[in-house]
Amino acid sequence: MAKITLKNLAHSYLPNPSAEDDFALKEMTHDWRDGEAYALLGSSGCGKSTLLNIISGLLRPSHGRVLFDGRDVTDQATAERNIAQVFQFPVVYDTMTVRENLAFPLKNRGIAAAEIAERVQRVGRMIGMEATLNHKARGLTADAKQKISLGRGMVREDVNALLFDEPLTVIDPHMKWELRTQLKKLHQDFGHTMIYVTHDQTEALTFADRVVVMYDGRVVQIGTPQELFERPAHTFVGYFIGSPGMNLFDASIDGTKAQIAGTQFDLGTTYATNGGDTKIGVRPEYIRLAPKGLPARVTRVEDVGRHKIIRLELGGQEVSAIAGEGDTVPDGGTHVQFIEGGVNVYEDGWRVPSAKEKDAA
Ligand code: ADP
Ligand code: MG
Repeated sequence: MAKITLKNLAHSYLPNPSAEDDFALKEMTHDWRDGEAYALLGSSGCGKSTLLNIISGLLRPSHGRVLFDGRDVTDQATAERNIAQVFQFPVVYDTMTVRENLAFPLKNRGIAAAEIAERVQRVGRMIGMEATLNHKARGLTADAKQKISLGRGMVREDVNALLFDEPLTVIDPHMKWELRTQLKKLHQDFGHTMIYVTHDQTEALTFADRVVVMYDGRVVQIGTPQELFERPAHTFVGYFIGSPGMNLFDASIDGTKAQIAGTQFDLGTTYATNGGDTKIGVRPEYIRLAPKGLPARVTRVEDVGRHKIIRLELGGQEVSAIAGEGDTVPDGGTHVQFIEGGVNVYEDGWRVPSAKEKDAA
C-alpha cells in the first residue's frame, strides 16, 4: 500500500500545449493518503480517466511527477507500480474458466496453489459467482464478465493501490449496490489505498472516506461527504452534490452586509472579498420559509416521501427548499430565511472563508 503524491502534475494530449484549455488536466499537487478509500467524482470529460491512468502508469503525464511513498514512479510501467486496475468494460480471457480468470493475477506472481484456491473462492463469493467458477468465460453475459474483471482486481493482496474506473457501468442496477458493498468490505478487511472513479454522487458518497471532486480538468475539492455538503469549496461542488443541489444567489457583499435581489440582510460575520463576482450558496436544507426575510413565491411542492421539496421563485430565480413531511407550506407569496451555519460565500466560483472561520482556525 502506498501514499500517492501528485507533484505539479498536469497533462495535455497535444504535442505542444500552450493555453490552459490545451490541458485535459490542469496543474495539481496533492497527497492521497495511504490506505484511504477515495472516490473520483465529476461529469463526463472532466479528466477522471486521464488522472487514473496517470496514477496507474498507463499514461505518462506530459508535466509533473507521480510518487508512491515518496519514490518517483513517473517513468515506471503499471506492472512495476504494483497496481490493480479495473476498467469500465470487461477484460477477461474467454477461453479460460471463471476460476482461471480470477487465479491469473496470482499465478503470474507465483503464489502457492493452496492460497490461490482459497482467495479465488473468497473473491468468487464476493462477486456472487461461486456457483459458476468452472464455467468458461465465453458465453457469459457482459454483466458476469464485468464481475470477473472486478474480481481479478480484488484478488491480489499485495498491491500498492486498487483503481476502479466506473466499474459498475454495465452491471445490473440491483447488483450494483451489492458489489459496492463488497468493495467497501474489501477495503475494511485489507485497508488498500482505493480510488474509485464515478460520475454518480450516490456511488461516490456511499463508497468513499474522501471524495475528490473534479471539474474541467481540475480537482476542485477533496473532502469527506460531510465537508462537501457543509462547505463546498467551489460552486460546482455545491450544485453537483446534493439533491437538489445548492442554491446560488447573485449577491453583493459589503462587510457583514449582503444583498440579494434588492433585499439587504446581515451575515453575522465579515467576508474578505476582492471585487470579484460574488455569490451566496445555501443548500435547500438550510432554507426555511418565514414571515420575514427575502420575498419569494412558492411555485411547486414535491412530496418525495421523507420530506418535501419546495420550489420557489426569488428575484427571478428558481430556489429549492426542503421542509419536513408534516410542515404546512403557504401558497404563493412568502419569505425565506437562511438557517445559521448554512451560508457559504463565493467569489469567482471559489469559497471565501468568513472572519469567524479564520479566527477559529
Ligand atoms: P472522464 O474520464 O472524466 O470522462 P477523460 O479523462 O476521459 O474524462 O477525458 C478528459 C478530456 O481529455 C476530454 O476532453 C477528452 O476528450 C480528452 N481525451 C481523453 N483521452 C484522450 C486521448 N487519448 N486523446 C486526446 N484527448 C483525449
Ligand atoms: Mg472516464
